[in-house]
Amino acid sequence: MKNLEDALKLSPSRVEAYEQCPRLYWYRYEPDSPKVTRPPSAALSFGNSLHAAMRSLYQQGGPAHVPSAHLPAMLAAVWRSEGYARPEEEQAAKRRAVAALVNYRERNRSYPTRSLYVESFLEAALDDVPFLVRPDRVDTLSPGLLAVEYKTGRNAKLGIHQMAIAYLVLWKLLRRPSDRPIRFLLVHLDSGQEQEQELAEEKAFEQLAVYSALRRRILQREFLAAPSAGACAFCEAGRVCVYSFKPLSRED
Ligand code: SF4
Repeated sequence: MKNLEDALKLSPSRVEAYEQCPRLYWYRYEPDSPKVTRPPSAALSFGNSLHAAMRSLYQQGGPAHVPSAHLPAMLAAVWRSEGYARPEEEQAAKRRAVAALVNYRERNRSYPTRSLYVESFLEAALDDVPFLVRPDRVDTLSPGLLAVEYKTGRNAKLGIHQMAIAYLVLWKLLRRPSDRPIRFLLVHLDSGQEQEQELAEEKAFEQLAVYSALRRRILQREFLAAPSAGACAFCEAGRVCVYSFKPLSRED
């Protein structure tokens, strides 16, 4: 039991999965569940490819140091082809991704890069709850920190757990005094829109009780299904899960 307890580090995706449906958490993370995988999709491949290209961009010094002409090759080196129905669809997606990278570089090339972390796994424990988080980027500001997340979906936004867990881990690792705030920036790579989001320090710390309780439930193996039309429709376990939500037909 002790080993299991030590091993369980809460990440934003684990918390979101458990809140969506504890049974989904079981399918996704517990070793005694049947393995289910999400079928490949063009949207997933597109998002993963752009994320990987942004990681390369910042590992090579950031927009001020990488010429636009290098971006197509940078993208090609990390491109994921799974899930595209036709070659023309994939080519169009590649052009869209190159345009997104070029536009991003244009908007940011005059800012010096002050990245502290680029897709690093960060771990810390608060109130005996171990956390693991991997922000896309963490930049230093004067004063404070900016945690940056990239998204490609149209209605993407930062969830409370993504912000609160990153906040708590950064606070612990870097011993932030409260006059040096941690802010969040959501970058929609496709549209070029950027959205700054705030999370008050008290709010992040209030979440600790939620995480502690949720972790206890996972360790006690509470994985009761919570089917709903919204959760089951997009669940990767939908094809094998006997609890999957089925709308009543007229015959029922
Ligand atoms: S199909 Fe529905 S009930 Fe089953 S694990 Fe997924 S979300 Fe939960």
